[in-house]
Amino acid sequence: QDKRRKLTQSKMSRLSKGLKRKYEKLSGMQSVIDRYSNLDQSGIVQVMYVWIDGTGENMRGKTKTFNFEPKLPSELPIWNFDGTATGQNVTDGSDVYIRPVALFRDPFRPGPNKIALCETLDNDYSPHPNNTRHMCKEMMEKAKDQHPWFGMEQEYTLLDVDKHPYGWPKHGYPAPQGPYYCGVGSDKVYGREIVEAHFKACMYAGIKISGTNAETMPAQWEFQVGPCEGIEMGDQLWVARYLLHRVCEDFGLVCSLDPKPIVGDWNGAGCHVNFSTEEMRTPSKDGRGYKAIEEAIHKLSKVHLEHIAYYDPHGGRDNERRLTGAHETETIDAFSSGVANRECSIRIPRQVFDDQCGYFEDRRPSSNCDPYTVTAAVTKTCCLTGED
Ligand code: ADP
Ligand code: MN
Ligand code: MN
Ligand code: MN
Ligand code: MN
Repeated sequence: QDKRRKLTQSKMSRLSKGLKRKYEKLSGMQSVIDRYSNLDQSGIVQVMYVWIDGTGENMRGKTKTFNFEPKLPSELPIWNFDGTATGQNVTDGSDVYIRPVALFRDPFRPGPNKIALCETLDNDYSPHPNNTRHMCKEMMEKAKDQHPWFGMEQEYTLLDVDKHPYGWPKHGYPAPQGPYYCGVGSDKVYGREIVEAHFKACMYAGIKISGTNAETMPAQWEFQVGPCEGIEMGDQLWVARYLLHRVCEDFGLVCSLDPKPIVGDWNGAGCHVNFSTEEMRTPSKDGRGYKAIEEAIHKLSKVHLEHIAYYDPHGGRDNERRLTGAHETETIDAFSSGVANRECSIRIPRQVFDDQCGYFEDRRPSSNCDPYTVTAAVTKTCCLTGED
């Protein structure tokens, strides 16, 4: 027995030596990285131009240097990239123009450096076919007197680089759903350090991040952005997604926005959109705000399938896997609404019913939806369509 104990002890010490070496190597690497990132920039500023590529889901980015610190996107020049490499070829050659439309502090390059969200333009400077922002902005302009506000709830799944859900056993499955939603403990939540890093990165950048929570499926998380008025919703959510992909890079993980990453008895991932107009938000004795909410839901009920086509990047095909009627969803071909009901297409929060004013939640958009397309569709139907 003594012999066996000795053996285990030496095994342990060998193991911990190995681990110790690994950590020493990692922290050595960190101090090397710090050596470069702590150098001063000689007055030059880095701007990461980011844009949405031809998939309508993935983002790209490249850096340009300037000899001044931009405060507004309009101070930055139009640039271009190789559309052949991103599935965005234009009619006459492969140069696609990118124009900065929103500016953020860069949490990965602290100091004066920026992230510039860009829209894509064709070679005659008209909107590129993939440029959904342009159409969204026009819609928001038409509805601006109603002050449309949005809040979006981005759900996502953390994966290892081999696409295996982060923290899941390599063979088999974790215990069934139940303890994971808003959970606490190493056996309940996987990847909190990534969520915390992303939260900080968002606050630093200037994203109106309103919260986060662990989701029903282990390794699945959510963050919320909003309320944002008009075009700002799409701009902010796209940049918040960019930051999430970058944070995951730092941890050697991948973030999936697939709406049903794991088949079986596991929740899918959505991107609920919460919506209100000034009329809906305003308290009054006669419940005028609540009536405006009911009118908007009535309008939405008339164009359900049209909205389903807008609520994922593949015309509804992605949501087919998610909107099954199970796992807190309504089926894809049915429209329903209810107070405090999470099995409906539209939910009115209980507080909103009690207050007789506020906002409602459209639960249909998939996690990989284009927030420009989604917010434009909601605005068109609820603000720019007349009663029948
Ligand atoms: P849920 O109960 O559905 O999980 P969350 O707390 O995750 O709700 O998200 C609610 C979202 O609604 C947040 O993004 C928040 O900014 C947004 N929101 C709050 N008030 C309004 C409003 N008046 N109009 C639009 N969005 C709003
Ligand atoms: Mn080149
Ligand atoms: Mn939520
Ligand atoms: Mn959620
Ligand atoms: Mn929700």
